[in-house]
Amino acid sequence: MSETGKVLWDDAMQAFDHHYLRHPYSTLCSNSKVWPVVEAHGVYLKLADGRQLIDGMSSWWAAIHGYNHSKLNTALQAQLSKMAHVMFGGLTHPPAVKLGQALCELLPVPLDRIFFCDSGSIAVEAAIKMALQYQQAKGARYKTQLLTIRGGYHGDTFAAMSICDPENGMHHLFRGILPEQIFVPAPRYREREDQDALNALAQTLEQHADKIAAMILEPVVQGAGGMHIYHPSYLHYVRKLCNQYDVLLIFDEIATGFGRTGTLFALEHADVVPDIICVGKALGAGYLTIAATVTSEAISRIVDSGEAGAFMHGPTYMANPLACAVASANIDLLKQDQWQRQVSAIEQQLKAELEICNQYQLVREVRVIGAIGIVELHNTVDVHTLCDAFVERGVWIRPFRNLVYIMPPYIITTDELSSLTRAICEVVQ
Ligand code: PMP
Repeated sequence: MSETGKVLWDDAMQAFDHHYLRHPYSTLCSNSKVWPVVEAHGVYLKLADGRQLIDGMSSWWAAIHGYNHSKLNTALQAQLSKMAHVMFGGLTHPPAVKLGQALCELLPVPLDRIFFCDSGSIAVEAAIKMALQYQQAKGARYKTQLLTIRGGYHGDTFAAMSICDPENGMHHLFRGILPEQIFVPAPRYREREDQDALNALAQTLEQHADKIAAMILEPVVQGAGGMHIYHPSYLHYVRKLCNQYDVLLIFDEIATGFGRTGTLFALEHADVVPDIICVGKALGAGYLTIAATVTSEAISRIVDSGEAGAFMHGPTYMANPLACAVASANIDLLKQDQWQRQVSAIEQQLKAELEICNQYQLVREVRVIGAIGIVELHNTVDVHTLCDAFVERGVWIRPFRNLVYIMPPYIITTDELSSLTRAICEVVQ
C-alpha cells in the first residue's frame, strides 16, 4: 500500500506478470519467482511486502549513485517541464549539446565525435557499422569481419551476439544466421604477459588481417561473458597490432565505464586509446536508457567520405532530452570526485571480506577490481534458489552460471556492503 492508500501490488498484478510479461532470458509462466519492487531509495529496493533489500547489482551496472537521487531527480524534473522528447533528425537541443560537451571532457583525446544511441547493444551495432563504413570508404570492402577475444559479451542484437563468446553466447542457436567472426583466446586472469594469448593474436592478425575491419573487446574486465579480469598490458599489444594491420580498435566500456573498475574508464589502466569507444549503462545512472558511440574527427571524416556520404544510423529516441539531462547530472556528480574515494573503499572492503570464500570447497576463485566483487564457483548454481537465499538475508544479488558477483552503487556504506559480503559468504559456504 502506498502513502496515499493506493494498492501498489496485488495478486492480479502478480498473475498478469506471470502470464503475460517476459523477463530477461526467461520462459513465460515459469515457476521461477520474480520479486515485485515498488520503490527504490539509495541502495535499497523496497519490495511490495515491505521488505527492503540492499542492492548489490546497481540494476546491472547502471545505478551508480543509487536510486531516487535528489540531484538526478531535479535534473529530470527540470527537463520534463521543458520537453520530454523531440526527434534528433534535423533538430537539436541543449541537453544533447551539454551531454556531448561533458563526454568530450571525460573521454581521452581524440575521442570527441559522438553518436548517441538508445542502448548498449545499439552502441555496439553503431560501432561495428562505423568500422565497416570506414573500411569501405578506404577502399577496403574486403574487410568485413570482426576480431574479438573469447569470453566477451556485447549485447543481444545480431551483430553484437556474433561477437559474444561462441560457447556461452547464442551462436549455436543462430548458426548460419549470425555473421561469422574471428575469435582468439582471452588473456588469462591477471597474468602479466600471457604469451599464448599474445601469440594467438599476432598469428591471427598476420593470417586474417585482410578480412578484419575491427577488433572489439571489453578492456580489462569482461562482464556478462564470464566476469574475467585480465592484465591491462594485453591492450598495449592489441593497440600495436591493430595499428600495424589497419584494423580499427573498438573498446566496449558499456559495463566498465564511469568509475566501476577504479579508473573513470578501464582503458586508463593501460593508457591505451581505441579508435571507437562504446559507453552506456551507468551513463543513464539507472534512470533512463542512453548510450553513445564515440570516435575521432579523423575517423568520422573517413566514414563520411564513403559511398553513403554519411553515417547510416538514426534511432527514433536518439539523444532523448530526458536521458541526456539525467546523464549530464550524473556526470556532474561524478566530477565532484567522490567516486574515486568510494570505489577505492569498496575495493578494499571487497578484497578483505570476500577473501574468506577462497577457503570454501565450492569456490574456485575470488576476484575483485574496483567496485566489482566476483566469487566464481566450480559448478553452475540454481539462480532462483540462490536469489531466494539472498532475499531471505535482505540483499539483492542475482548470480549467473557459476558466478556470484556484486557491483553495488558507489554510495553504499561500509555496513551495507558488509551485509552483501556476509550474505555471499553464508550462501556460497
Ligand atoms: N556491452 C557490454 C559490455 C554489456 O555488459 C552490455 C549489457 N550487459 C551490453 C554491451 C549491452 O547493453 P544493453 O543491455 O544496454 O543493450
